[in-house]
Amino acid sequence: MSRRLDSPFGKDAPGFLEATDACAFCPNLCLHACPVATASGRTSEAPWALMTLTRWVATGDSAATPDVRRALGACTGCGACTAACLHHVPVAATLQHARAVLHRTLGPAAPGQAPTIKSESSTGPIPTGASGIARWHSGDTTAFTAVAKAAASRWQGRSRLVFEDHADLVCVRDLFPTVGAAVGASLVLSAVDALSSSPPIPAGVVGYLPPCTTMSRLTPTSPVDHGSYAATLETWLGHAPATLRWDIAGTCCGAAEPFRTQNPETARLMAERIVQNARDRGIDVLVVLSAPCAAHLRDVALAVPAGQRPLSVVLPGGDSRVELPR
Ligand code: SF4
Ligand code: SF4
Repeated sequence: MSRRLDSPFGKDAPGFLEATDACAFCPNLCLHACPVATASGRTSEAPWALMTLTRWVATGDSAATPDVRRALGACTGCGACTAACLHHVPVAATLQHARAVLHRTLGPAAPGQAPTIKSESSTGPIPTGASGIARWHSGDTTAFTAVAKAAASRWQGRSRLVFEDHADLVCVRDLFPTVGAAVGASLVLSAVDALSSSPPIPAGVVGYLPPCTTMSRLTPTSPVDHGSYAATLETWLGHAPATLRWDIAGTCCGAAEPFRTQNPETARLMAERIVQNARDRGIDVLVVLSAPCAAHLRDVALAVPAGQRPLSVVLPGGDSRVELPR
C-alpha cells in the first residue's frame, strides 16, 4: 500500500502535494515576512515549516497528531508570506483547507476552539466575530456555514452592514457566497465610516497600521488592497500618515481568532513588536481600523517601557466599545 493512501487527507492528499510543491523546494524564503515566526523566534512556525508538515501529512510521513494539528493552527492567516513569495503560494488558504479536511475526517483539533459569538444590537456595528470567521479558520466549515446562513438571513433586507472587524467584512464579502449565504448589502468598516464625520485629529505624529488580517487569507485570489483605507486616513489628516517599517508584510498583531486564544504568548509578542515598531518610528498615535486589533494592541501599549514615550492606540469612532473576547 502506498504511504499516500494512509494519509488522513484521503482523496485530497494529491491536491496537498501539489499545493506544497513550491515550498518543498524552497529554502525558507518567506521566513522574514511571517509575524508569528519572527515574534516567537521559532522557525518551526514559519510558513515553510507549516507547509512541509502539511506535505508530510499528505505523504503519510507524519500522522495528524494533536501536536501536528496544533502546529497547523499557528497561523493567523495574515497572508504576508504569500505577498513575500515569488510564486505567491497561498499558504494560509492551504493551511485552512488542511485544517478543514482534518476536522471533517478526525473531528475537532481541540475543544472550545471558537469564541462565543456576541449578540447584535439593532443600532451598533456588527460585533467582532459575528461572521463566524473563527469557525472557518479553525476548519469547522459545517459550523461556519450554519453561522453564515443564519447571519445572512438576519441581515436580509438591509442595504448597509457596518462591521467592527475587517475580518468579518472580508469574510462576508468573500466566503459567504461560497456557502450559499451571499448578502446584497454594501459592506462598511465602522472605523472608516467614523472618519467620514471628521472626528478631531489627535495631537502628535499619527501612524497607521494597515489592516493586514484577512487581506489575502480567505481565498487564494483575494486581492491585497489597503490603498483605499490609507487614502481615507490621508484625507482625514490632510497629510499621509506615518507607516510602520514593514508596510504590508509583518504587520499582523495576532488578534485574529482562534489564533489569539490558542497562542496567547505569541499573540502578545506580535503586538509588542508592532508597538515597538511604532515607537521606533516616532509615532505618538497609532490608528487601527479593526476593533479586535485595536483592543489587543492597546493592552500592550499601556505598558510603557522606562525612557520611552507613551503610544496611544486609536480606533476611530469606536474606542469606548473596544473589547476583546475573553
Ligand atoms: S510560500 Fe513561497 S517563499 Fe514561502 S516557503 Fe513556500 S515557496 Fe518558499
Ligand atoms: S499567513 Fe501570516 S501567519 Fe500564516 S504562515 Fe503566512 S505569514 Fe505566517
